[in-house]
Amino acid sequence: MKRIQGLHRFCGGRAGRRAEGASPAAVVTILCALVFAGLITGTGRAAPARSTGAAQPIATAPADPAIARALADVSATHIRQTVTALVDFHTRNTLSSMDSDLPPKTGVTAAAKWIEQQFTAISDACHGCLEVKTDTFTQPGDDAPRSRVKVPTTITNVYAIMRGSEAAQAIMRGSDAGTDPGQASRMYLVTGHYDSRRTDVMDSHGIAPGANDDASGTAVSIECARVLSRHRWPSTLVCVAVAGEEQGLLGSAHLAKLAKDQGWQLAGVLNNDIVGGDTTPGDTLQDKTRIRVFSQGIPATAPPEEIKRTLALGLESDGPSRELARLVAGVGRTYFHTNPAGFRPVLEFRLDRFLRGGDHLSFNQQGFAAVRLTEWRENFDHQHQDVRLENGKQYGDLLKFVDFNYVANVARLNAATLATLASAPAAPEEVRIVTSNLDNNSTLRWKPGPGMPAKAHIDIVWRDTSAPDWQYHQPVPAADTRNSSMTLPISKDNVIFGVRACNPAGQCSPAVAPLPER
Ligand SMILES: [Zn+2]
Repeated sequence: MKRIQGLHRFCGGRAGRRAEGASPAAVVTILCALVFAGLITGTGRAAPARSTGAAQPIATAPADPAIARALADVSATHIRQTVTALVDFHTRNTLSSMDSDLPPKTGVTAAAKWIEQQFTAISDACHGCLEVKTDTFTQPGDDAPRSRVKVPTTITNVYAIMRGSEAAQAIMRGSDAGTDPGQASRMYLVTGHYDSRRTDVMDSHGIAPGANDDASGTAVSIECARVLSRHRWPSTLVCVAVAGEEQGLLGSAHLAKLAKDQGWQLAGVLNNDIVGGDTTPGDTLQDKTRIRVFSQGIPATAPPEEIKRTLALGLESDGPSRELARLVAGVGRTYFHTNPAGFRPVLEFRLDRFLRGGDHLSFNQQGFAAVRLTEWRENFDHQHQDVRLENGKQYGDLLKFVDFNYVANVARLNAATLATLASAPAAPEEVRIVTSNLDNNSTLRWKPGPGMPAKAHIDIVWRDTSAPDWQYHQPVPAADTRNSSMTLPISKDNVIFGVRACNPAGQCSPAVAPLPER
Protein backbone atom coordinates (compact mmCIF):
# COMPACT_ATOMS: atom_id res chain seq x y z
CA MET A 1 0.00 0.00 0.00
CA LYS A 2 2.86 2.34 0.86
CA ARG A 3 4.48 1.59 -2.47
CA ILE A 4 1.36 2.50 -4.40
CA GLN A 5 0.79 5.64 -2.37
CA GLY A 6 4.36 6.57 -3.23
CA LEU A 7 3.38 6.01 -6.81
CA HIS A 8 0.52 8.45 -6.38
CA ARG A 9 2.99 11.05 -5.22
CA PHE A 10 5.25 10.22 -8.11
CA CYS A 11 2.43 10.51 -10.61
CA GLY A 12 1.43 13.78 -8.97
CA GLY A 13 4.17 15.40 -11.02
CA ARG A 14 6.77 16.49 -8.49
CA ALA A 15 9.29 13.81 -9.41
CA GLY A 16 8.00 13.13 -12.90
CA ARG A 17 10.67 15.11 -14.70
CA ARG A 18 13.39 12.90 -13.23
CA ALA A 19 11.92 9.87 -15.00
CA GLU A 20 12.96 10.77 -18.52
CA GLY A 21 13.67 8.04 -21.02
CA ALA A 22 14.88 5.28 -18.73
CA SER A 23 13.02 2.03 -18.94
CA PRO A 24 11.97 1.95 -15.25
CA ALA A 25 10.34 5.29 -15.96
CA ALA A 26 8.36 3.71 -18.77
CA VAL A 27 7.01 1.20 -16.27
CA VAL A 28 6.16 4.04 -13.92
CA THR A 29 4.38 5.83 -16.77
CA ILE A 30 2.24 2.79 -17.45
CA LEU A 31 1.49 2.38 -13.75
CA CYS A 32 0.62 6.05 -13.57
CA ALA A 33 -1.72 5.64 -16.50
CA LEU A 34 -3.35 2.69 -14.76
CA VAL A 35 -3.71 4.65 -11.58
CA PHE A 36 -5.35 7.55 -13.33
CA ALA A 37 -7.45 5.19 -15.42
CA GLY A 38 -8.67 3.90 -12.08
CA LEU A 39 -7.44 0.36 -12.68
CA ILE A 40 -5.15 0.52 -9.66
CA THR A 41 -6.25 2.29 -6.55
CA GLY A 42 -4.49 3.72 -3.52
CA THR A 43 -4.98 0.41 -1.77
CA GLY A 44 -2.73 -1.30 -4.30
CA ARG A 45 -5.34 -3.78 -5.44
CA ALA A 46 -6.55 -4.28 -8.97
CA ALA A 47 -9.96 -2.91 -9.77
CA PRO A 48 -12.55 -4.99 -7.94
CA ALA A 49 -15.61 -6.49 -9.50
CA ARG A 50 -17.85 -4.91 -6.85
CA SER A 51 -18.04 -1.18 -6.74
CA THR A 52 -16.94 -0.84 -3.14
CA GLY A 53 -14.39 -3.65 -3.12
CA ALA A 54 -11.41 -1.29 -2.95
CA ALA A 55 -12.90 0.68 -0.11
CA GLN A 56 -11.47 1.21 3.33
CA PRO A 57 -14.34 1.21 5.79
CA ILE A 58 -14.56 4.50 7.65
CA ALA A 59 -13.21 4.10 11.16
CA THR A 60 -14.26 6.18 14.13
CA ALA A 61 -11.94 9.19 14.42
CA PRO A 62 -9.78 9.28 17.56
CA ALA A 63 -10.72 11.65 20.37
CA ASP A 64 -8.70 14.87 20.52
CA PRO A 65 -7.09 15.35 23.98
CA ALA A 66 -7.89 19.08 24.16
CA ILE A 67 -11.53 18.45 23.25
CA ALA A 68 -11.76 15.57 25.73
CA ARG A 69 -10.46 17.92 28.46
CA ALA A 70 -13.10 20.51 27.57
CA LEU A 71 -15.84 17.86 27.71
CA ALA A 72 -14.66 16.75 31.15
CA ASP A 73 -15.44 20.28 32.39
CA VAL A 74 -19.13 20.07 31.40
CA SER A 75 -21.11 20.10 34.62
CA ALA A 76 -24.67 18.87 35.19
CA THR A 77 -24.64 20.96 38.38
CA HIS A 78 -23.80 24.11 36.48
CA ILE A 79 -26.48 23.33 33.91
CA ARG A 80 -29.00 22.83 36.70
CA GLN A 81 -28.07 26.26 38.10
CA THR A 82 -28.57 27.87 34.68
CA VAL A 83 -31.96 26.24 34.02
CA THR A 84 -33.13 27.02 37.57
CA ALA A 85 -32.14 30.68 37.24
CA LEU A 86 -34.02 30.96 33.93
CA VAL A 87 -37.15 29.31 35.39
CA ASP A 88 -37.01 31.77 38.29
CA PHE A 89 -37.81 34.68 35.93
CA HIS A 90 -41.45 33.57 36.27
CA THR A 91 -42.10 34.13 32.57
CA ARG A 92 -39.78 34.69 29.64
CA ASN A 93 -42.57 35.32 27.17
CA THR A 94 -41.15 37.60 24.47
CA LEU A 95 -44.11 39.99 24.70
CA SER A 96 -43.27 40.68 28.35
CA SER A 97 -40.51 43.04 27.16
CA MET A 98 -43.25 45.65 26.65
CA ASP A 99 -44.89 45.18 30.07
CA SER A 100 -44.21 47.80 32.74
CA ASP A 101 -46.22 46.09 35.49
CA LEU A 102 -44.09 42.99 35.99
CA PRO A 103 -42.52 42.41 39.42
CA PRO A 104 -38.75 43.02 39.55
CA LYS A 105 -36.49 40.18 38.38
CA THR A 106 -39.22 38.68 36.22
CA GLY A 107 -39.88 38.76 32.49
CA VAL A 108 -37.87 38.31 29.34
CA THR A 109 -35.81 41.51 29.63
CA ALA A 110 -34.49 40.56 33.06
CA ALA A 111 -33.65 37.11 31.66
CA ALA A 112 -31.73 38.66 28.75
CA LYS A 113 -29.69 40.80 31.16
CA TRP A 114 -28.91 37.73 33.28
CA ILE A 115 -27.72 35.74 30.23
CA GLU A 116 -25.53 38.67 29.20
CA GLN A 117 -24.04 38.67 32.73
CA GLN A 118 -23.27 34.94 32.45
CA PHE A 119 -21.39 35.40 29.18
CA THR A 120 -19.56 38.42 30.67
CA ALA A 121 -18.52 36.42 33.76
CA ILE A 122 -17.24 33.60 31.51
CA SER A 123 -15.32 36.15 29.49
CA ASP A 124 -13.84 37.72 32.64
CA ALA A 125 -12.61 34.28 33.69
CA CYS A 126 -10.71 33.88 30.39
CA HIS A 127 -9.28 37.42 30.46
CA GLY A 128 -11.79 38.84 28.00
CA CYS A 129 -11.69 36.01 25.46
CA LEU A 130 -15.36 36.55 24.53
CA GLU A 131 -16.98 39.50 22.80
CA VAL A 132 -20.37 39.69 24.51
CA LYS A 133 -23.00 41.30 22.33
CA THR A 134 -26.72 41.93 22.13
CA ASP A 135 -28.81 42.20 19.01
CA THR A 136 -31.85 44.27 20.02
CA PHE A 137 -34.53 45.25 17.55
CA THR A 138 -38.19 46.18 17.40
CA GLN A 139 -40.52 43.68 15.80
CA PRO A 140 -43.33 45.64 14.13
CA GLY A 141 -46.84 44.95 15.41
CA ASP A 142 -49.37 43.19 13.21
CA ASP A 143 -53.05 43.04 14.16
CA ALA A 144 -53.94 40.15 11.85
CA PRO A 145 -55.97 37.51 13.76
CA ARG A 146 -53.18 34.89 13.81
CA SER A 147 -50.36 37.35 14.51
CA ARG A 148 -48.30 36.56 17.59
CA VAL A 149 -46.96 40.13 17.91
CA LYS A 150 -49.81 42.67 17.97
CA VAL A 151 -47.84 45.78 18.98
CA PRO A 152 -44.25 46.86 18.27
CA THR A 153 -42.14 44.66 20.54
CA THR A 154 -38.52 44.79 21.64
CA ILE A 155 -36.64 41.52 21.06
CA THR A 156 -33.10 40.90 22.26
CA ASN A 157 -30.70 38.14 21.20
CA VAL A 158 -27.61 37.70 23.38
CA TYR A 159 -24.42 36.16 22.05
CA ALA A 160 -20.73 35.70 22.76
CA ILE A 161 -18.05 35.45 20.11
CA MET A 162 -14.80 33.62 20.74
CA ARG A 163 -12.46 34.54 17.91
CA GLY A 164 -10.31 31.93 16.19
CA SER A 165 -6.86 31.82 17.73
CA GLU A 166 -3.67 32.19 15.73
CA ALA A 167 -1.77 30.26 18.40
CA ALA A 168 -4.18 27.34 18.07
CA GLN A 169 -3.86 27.56 14.30
CA ALA A 170 -0.08 27.41 14.48
CA ILE A 171 -0.35 24.10 16.33
CA MET A 172 -2.75 22.72 13.74
CA ARG A 173 -0.84 24.03 10.75
CA GLY A 174 2.73 23.35 11.86
CA SER A 175 4.85 26.05 13.42
CA ASP A 176 6.42 27.08 10.10
CA ALA A 177 3.16 27.30 8.20
CA GLY A 178 2.03 30.67 9.53
CA THR A 179 -1.59 31.46 10.21
CA ASP A 180 -4.49 31.95 7.91
CA PRO A 181 -7.12 34.63 8.42
CA GLY A 182 -9.54 32.40 6.48
CA GLN A 183 -9.47 29.75 9.18
CA ALA A 184 -9.81 32.24 12.04
CA SER A 185 -12.80 33.98 10.46
CA ARG A 186 -14.72 30.76 9.80
CA MET A 187 -17.54 30.57 12.37
CA TYR A 188 -19.59 27.87 14.06
CA LEU A 189 -22.61 28.72 16.17
CA VAL A 190 -24.58 27.05 18.95
CA THR A 191 -27.98 28.41 19.94
CA GLY A 192 -31.01 27.87 22.15
CA HIS A 193 -34.05 30.08 22.69
CA TYR A 194 -34.54 31.62 26.11
CA ASP A 195 -38.12 32.82 25.61
CA SER A 196 -40.94 30.68 27.00
CA ARG A 197 -44.73 30.41 26.63
CA ARG A 198 -47.97 29.27 28.18
CA THR A 199 -50.90 27.54 26.45
CA ASP A 200 -51.86 31.00 25.18
CA VAL A 201 -48.74 32.27 23.42
CA MET A 202 -50.01 35.85 23.86
CA ASP A 203 -50.08 35.59 27.68
CA SER A 204 -47.10 37.59 28.90
CA HIS A 205 -47.89 37.54 32.65
CA GLY A 206 -48.72 34.01 33.82
CA ILE A 207 -46.11 31.50 34.94
CA ALA A 208 -44.22 30.07 31.97
CA PRO A 209 -41.22 28.16 33.37
CA GLY A 210 -39.97 26.81 30.01
CA ALA A 211 -37.49 24.54 31.77
CA ASN A 212 -37.16 22.09 28.91
CA ASP A 213 -38.43 24.41 26.14
CA ASP A 214 -35.97 25.94 26.01
CA ALA A 215 -33.98 26.82 29.14
CA SER A 216 -32.29 23.45 28.47
CA GLY A 217 -31.02 24.58 25.03
CA THR A 218 -29.98 27.98 26.43
CA ALA A 219 -28.04 26.18 29.17
CA VAL A 220 -26.27 24.09 26.50
CA SER A 221 -25.16 27.27 24.70
CA ILE A 222 -23.89 28.90 27.92
CA GLU A 223 -22.16 25.69 29.01
CA CYS A 224 -20.40 25.45 25.63
CA ALA A 225 -19.12 29.01 26.14
CA ARG A 226 -17.94 28.15 29.64
CA VAL A 227 -15.99 24.97 28.83
CA LEU A 228 -14.69 25.94 25.38
CA SER A 229 -13.44 29.35 26.56
CA ARG A 230 -10.83 27.58 28.70
CA HIS A 231 -9.03 26.55 25.51
CA ARG A 232 -8.22 28.20 22.22
CA TRP A 233 -9.57 26.99 18.86
CA PRO A 234 -8.39 27.77 15.33
CA SER A 235 -11.81 28.97 14.09
CA THR A 236 -14.38 31.31 15.65
CA LEU A 237 -17.18 30.04 17.90
CA VAL A 238 -20.43 31.88 18.64
CA CYS A 239 -22.67 30.95 21.60
CA VAL A 240 -26.17 32.36 21.29
CA ALA A 241 -29.44 32.73 23.20
CA VAL A 242 -32.29 34.04 21.05
CA ALA A 243 -35.79 35.27 21.96
CA GLY A 244 -38.97 35.43 19.90
CA GLU A 245 -38.92 31.75 18.98
CA GLU A 246 -42.40 31.05 20.29
CA GLN A 247 -43.76 34.16 18.52
CA GLY A 248 -42.51 32.78 15.17
CA LEU A 249 -38.70 32.33 15.09
CA LEU A 250 -38.34 36.13 15.21
CA GLY A 251 -35.05 36.46 17.11
CA SER A 252 -33.21 33.84 15.07
CA ALA A 253 -34.57 35.30 11.81
CA HIS A 254 -33.09 38.67 12.78
CA LEU A 255 -29.74 37.23 13.86
CA ALA A 256 -29.42 35.00 10.79
CA LYS A 257 -30.08 38.01 8.56
CA LEU A 258 -27.54 40.05 10.54
CA ALA A 259 -25.00 37.24 10.02
CA LYS A 260 -25.72 37.27 6.28
CA ASP A 261 -25.64 41.07 6.00
CA GLN A 262 -22.40 41.34 8.00
CA GLY A 263 -20.77 38.61 5.90
CA TRP A 264 -20.18 36.14 8.73
CA GLN A 265 -18.33 33.10 7.38
CA LEU A 266 -20.87 30.93 9.19
CA ALA A 267 -20.17 27.31 8.27
CA GLY A 268 -22.45 25.48 10.72
CA VAL A 269 -25.24 26.07 13.25
CA LEU A 270 -26.38 23.76 16.06
CA ASN A 271 -29.86 24.61 17.36
CA ASN A 272 -30.72 23.02 20.70
CA ASP A 273 -34.43 23.09 21.44
CA ILE A 274 -36.07 20.79 24.03
CA VAL A 275 -32.95 18.88 25.06
CA GLY A 276 -34.00 18.30 28.69
CA GLY A 277 -34.57 14.54 28.44
CA ASP A 278 -38.09 14.74 29.85
CA THR A 279 -38.43 12.50 32.88
CA THR A 280 -42.02 11.54 33.59
CA PRO A 281 -42.74 8.93 36.24
CA GLY A 282 -44.12 5.84 34.56
CA ASP A 283 -42.89 6.71 31.05
CA THR A 284 -40.88 3.70 29.91
CA LEU A 285 -40.40 4.84 26.32
CA GLN A 286 -38.09 7.80 26.92
CA ASP A 287 -34.53 6.93 25.86
CA LYS A 288 -31.78 8.89 27.61
CA THR A 289 -29.12 7.35 25.36
CA ARG A 290 -30.41 9.09 22.24
CA ILE A 291 -30.62 12.63 20.94
CA ARG A 292 -32.33 13.37 17.63
CA VAL A 293 -30.51 15.45 15.00
CA PHE A 294 -32.95 16.91 12.48
CA SER A 295 -31.62 18.26 9.19
CA GLN A 296 -32.94 19.46 5.90
CA GLY A 297 -31.95 17.46 2.79
CA ILE A 298 -32.42 19.96 -0.02
CA PRO A 299 -31.39 23.49 1.02
CA ALA A 300 -34.27 25.90 1.73
CA THR A 301 -32.65 28.40 -0.62
CA ALA A 302 -32.26 26.04 -3.59
CA PRO A 303 -33.83 27.52 -6.73
CA PRO A 304 -36.22 25.28 -8.78
CA GLU A 305 -33.54 24.31 -11.31
CA GLU A 306 -31.21 23.13 -8.54
CA ILE A 307 -33.99 21.13 -6.90
CA LYS A 308 -34.75 19.47 -10.25
CA ARG A 309 -31.10 18.53 -10.75
CA THR A 310 -30.72 17.35 -7.14
CA LEU A 311 -33.72 15.03 -7.48
CA ALA A 312 -32.55 13.75 -10.88
CA LEU A 313 -29.17 12.77 -9.41
CA GLY A 314 -30.54 11.31 -6.16
CA LEU A 315 -28.66 13.93 -4.11
CA GLU A 316 -31.70 14.96 -2.06
CA SER A 317 -30.02 13.70 1.11
CA ASP A 318 -26.74 15.55 0.63
CA GLY A 319 -27.41 19.24 1.24
CA PRO A 320 -24.98 21.08 3.57
CA SER A 321 -27.26 20.72 6.63
CA ARG A 322 -27.53 16.96 6.09
CA GLU A 323 -23.73 16.68 5.79
CA LEU A 324 -23.40 18.69 9.01
CA ALA A 325 -25.79 16.25 10.71
CA ARG A 326 -23.62 13.32 9.54
CA LEU A 327 -20.62 15.07 11.09
CA VAL A 328 -22.50 15.36 14.41
CA ALA A 329 -23.17 11.61 14.25
CA GLY A 330 -19.45 10.97 13.70
CA VAL A 331 -18.50 13.22 16.62
CA GLY A 332 -20.92 11.23 18.76
CA ARG A 333 -19.13 8.00 17.84
CA THR A 334 -15.75 9.54 18.69
CA TYR A 335 -16.58 11.01 22.08
CA PHE A 336 -19.27 8.72 23.48
CA HIS A 337 -18.30 5.21 22.37
CA THR A 338 -16.49 4.54 25.65
CA ASN A 339 -19.37 5.81 27.78
CA PRO A 340 -20.90 2.70 29.33
CA ALA A 341 -24.25 4.43 29.71
CA GLY A 342 -24.18 5.14 25.99
CA PHE A 343 -25.25 8.30 24.25
CA ARG A 344 -25.66 8.77 20.57
CA PRO A 345 -27.02 11.22 18.05
CA VAL A 346 -29.72 9.70 15.83
CA LEU A 347 -30.00 11.14 12.33
CA GLU A 348 -33.53 12.27 11.51
CA PHE A 349 -33.78 12.96 7.79
CA ARG A 350 -36.37 15.73 7.99
CA LEU A 351 -36.25 19.45 8.71
CA ASP A 352 -38.18 19.15 11.98
CA ARG A 353 -40.94 17.25 13.75
CA PHE A 354 -44.49 17.22 12.34
CA LEU A 355 -46.34 20.52 12.89
CA ARG A 356 -43.29 22.07 14.54
CA GLY A 357 -40.46 24.42 13.63
CA GLY A 358 -37.30 25.81 15.14
CA ASP A 359 -34.54 28.39 14.90
CA HIS A 360 -32.34 26.29 12.60
CA LEU A 361 -34.86 27.07 9.85
CA SER A 362 -34.05 30.80 10.14
CA PHE A 363 -30.40 30.02 9.43
CA ASN A 364 -31.32 27.59 6.62
CA GLN A 365 -33.38 30.35 5.02
CA GLN A 366 -30.29 32.61 4.89
CA GLY A 367 -28.32 29.83 3.19
CA PHE A 368 -26.45 28.49 6.25
CA ALA A 369 -26.05 24.84 7.19
CA ALA A 370 -28.01 24.29 10.40
CA VAL A 371 -29.41 21.33 12.33
CA ARG A 372 -31.76 20.86 15.28
CA LEU A 373 -31.08 18.73 18.35
CA THR A 374 -34.09 17.54 20.36
CA GLU A 375 -34.63 14.90 23.03
CA TRP A 376 -35.71 11.42 21.93
CA ARG A 377 -39.32 11.51 23.17
CA GLU A 378 -41.13 14.72 23.98
CA ASN A 379 -43.91 14.89 26.53
CA PHE A 380 -46.43 17.34 25.13
CA ASP A 381 -48.09 17.76 28.54
CA HIS A 382 -44.83 19.38 29.63
CA GLN A 383 -44.40 22.02 26.94
CA HIS A 384 -46.56 24.95 25.76
CA GLN A 385 -48.92 24.18 28.66
CA ASP A 386 -50.18 26.22 31.62
CA VAL A 387 -48.84 24.81 34.87
CA ARG A 388 -51.79 22.96 36.42
CA LEU A 389 -52.91 19.73 37.98
CA GLU A 390 -55.82 18.17 36.09
CA ASN A 391 -57.37 14.84 37.08
CA GLY A 392 -54.23 14.03 38.99
CA LYS A 393 -51.99 14.76 35.97
CA GLN A 394 -49.30 17.46 36.15
CA TYR A 395 -49.08 19.80 33.18
CA GLY A 396 -46.44 22.45 32.53
CA ASP A 397 -42.77 22.76 31.58
CA LEU A 398 -41.42 22.33 35.11
CA LEU A 399 -37.87 22.04 36.40
CA LYS A 400 -38.61 18.64 37.96
CA PHE A 401 -39.06 16.99 34.55
CA VAL A 402 -35.56 17.97 33.32
CA ASP A 403 -32.71 15.44 33.53
CA PHE A 404 -29.56 17.53 33.98
CA ASN A 405 -27.22 14.63 33.30
CA TYR A 406 -28.92 14.21 29.94
CA VAL A 407 -28.56 17.93 29.17
CA ALA A 408 -24.87 17.62 30.13
CA ASN A 409 -24.44 14.90 27.51
CA VAL A 410 -26.13 17.12 24.94
CA ALA A 411 -23.75 19.94 25.92
CA ARG A 412 -20.78 17.58 25.52
CA LEU A 413 -21.97 16.60 22.05
CA ASN A 414 -22.36 20.26 21.06
CA ALA A 415 -19.00 21.30 22.49
CA ALA A 416 -17.23 18.37 20.81
CA THR A 417 -18.89 19.18 17.48
CA LEU A 418 -18.01 22.89 17.67
CA ALA A 419 -14.40 22.18 18.66
CA THR A 420 -14.02 19.52 15.96
CA LEU A 421 -15.37 21.84 13.28
CA ALA A 422 -13.17 24.67 14.56
CA SER A 423 -10.08 22.42 14.45
CA ALA A 424 -10.75 20.77 11.09
CA PRO A 425 -9.73 22.33 7.78
CA ALA A 426 -12.34 24.19 5.76
CA ALA A 427 -14.49 22.01 3.52
CA PRO A 428 -13.24 21.78 -0.06
CA GLU A 429 -14.91 23.95 -2.67
CA GLU A 430 -16.05 23.55 -6.27
CA VAL A 431 -16.39 19.81 -5.74
CA ARG A 432 -17.24 18.13 -9.03
CA ILE A 433 -17.63 14.67 -10.51
CA VAL A 434 -16.66 14.33 -14.14
CA THR A 435 -19.51 13.04 -16.29
CA SER A 436 -18.19 13.73 -19.78
CA ASN A 437 -18.14 10.04 -20.78
CA LEU A 438 -20.04 6.90 -19.89
CA ASP A 439 -17.54 5.36 -17.52
CA ASN A 440 -17.48 2.86 -14.68
CA ASN A 441 -14.74 4.85 -12.97
CA SER A 442 -15.36 8.10 -11.14
CA THR A 443 -13.13 11.15 -11.34
CA LEU A 444 -13.59 13.75 -8.63
CA ARG A 445 -12.22 17.28 -8.67
CA TRP A 446 -12.11 19.91 -5.94
CA LYS A 447 -10.44 23.11 -4.82
CA PRO A 448 -8.94 23.09 -1.29
CA GLY A 449 -10.95 25.29 1.08
CA PRO A 450 -9.57 28.66 2.21
CA GLY A 451 -6.62 28.39 4.56
CA MET A 452 -6.20 24.64 4.16
CA PRO A 453 -3.11 23.78 6.26
CA ALA A 454 -0.11 22.22 4.52
CA LYS A 455 -0.44 19.14 6.71
CA ALA A 456 -4.09 18.55 5.86
CA HIS A 457 -5.31 16.16 3.20
CA ILE A 458 -8.43 15.51 1.17
CA ASP A 459 -10.49 12.41 1.93
CA ILE A 460 -12.99 10.97 -0.53
CA VAL A 461 -15.95 9.29 1.17
CA TRP A 462 -18.81 7.32 -0.30
CA ARG A 463 -21.78 5.18 0.59
CA ASP A 464 -24.33 2.97 -1.12
CA THR A 465 -27.16 5.07 -2.54
CA SER A 466 -29.50 3.45 0.00
CA ALA A 467 -27.20 3.98 3.02
CA PRO A 468 -27.81 6.87 5.43
CA ASP A 469 -24.21 7.61 6.39
CA TRP A 470 -20.72 7.39 4.87
CA GLN A 471 -19.34 3.85 4.73
CA TYR A 472 -16.00 3.95 2.91
CA HIS A 473 -13.20 6.37 2.25
CA GLN A 474 -10.01 6.86 0.31
CA PRO A 475 -7.49 9.37 1.66
CA VAL A 476 -5.86 11.34 -1.12
CA PRO A 477 -2.06 11.55 -0.90
CA ALA A 478 -0.77 15.06 -0.23
CA ALA A 479 0.54 15.62 -3.77
CA ASP A 480 -2.81 14.67 -5.28
CA THR A 481 -4.61 16.87 -2.76
CA ARG A 482 -2.79 19.80 -4.35
CA ASN A 483 -3.52 18.40 -7.82
CA SER A 484 -7.16 18.46 -6.77
CA SER A 485 -8.32 15.38 -8.62
CA MET A 486 -8.60 11.64 -8.13
CA THR A 487 -10.06 8.73 -10.06
CA LEU A 488 -11.54 5.71 -8.31
CA PRO A 489 -12.61 2.42 -9.90
CA ILE A 490 -16.11 2.81 -8.56
CA SER A 491 -19.20 3.54 -10.59
CA LYS A 492 -20.72 6.92 -9.72
CA ASP A 493 -24.07 5.36 -10.61
CA ASN A 494 -23.86 2.94 -7.67
CA VAL A 495 -22.74 5.17 -4.82
CA ILE A 496 -22.97 8.71 -3.48
CA PHE A 497 -19.61 10.46 -3.13
CA GLY A 498 -18.50 13.23 -0.81
CA VAL A 499 -15.20 15.08 -0.52
CA ARG A 500 -13.94 16.37 2.81
CA ALA A 501 -10.72 17.84 4.22
CA CYS A 502 -9.01 16.29 7.25
CA ASN A 503 -6.09 17.20 9.47
CA PRO A 504 -3.48 14.65 10.62
CA ALA A 505 -5.39 14.19 13.91
CA GLY A 506 -8.34 12.82 11.94
CA GLN A 507 -10.63 15.82 12.36
CA CYS A 508 -12.51 16.38 9.13
CA SER A 509 -14.75 19.03 7.64
CA PRO A 510 -18.29 18.06 6.69
CA ALA A 511 -18.26 16.27 3.33
CA VAL A 512 -19.35 18.11 0.19
CA ALA A 513 -21.34 16.19 -2.41
CA PRO A 514 -19.97 16.71 -5.93
CA LEU A 515 -21.99 18.35 -8.67
CA PRO A 516 -21.70 16.88 -12.16
CA GLU A 517 -19.18 18.46 -14.52
CA ARG A 518 -19.32 17.72 -18.21
ZN1 LIG B 1 -38.69 25.53 21.72
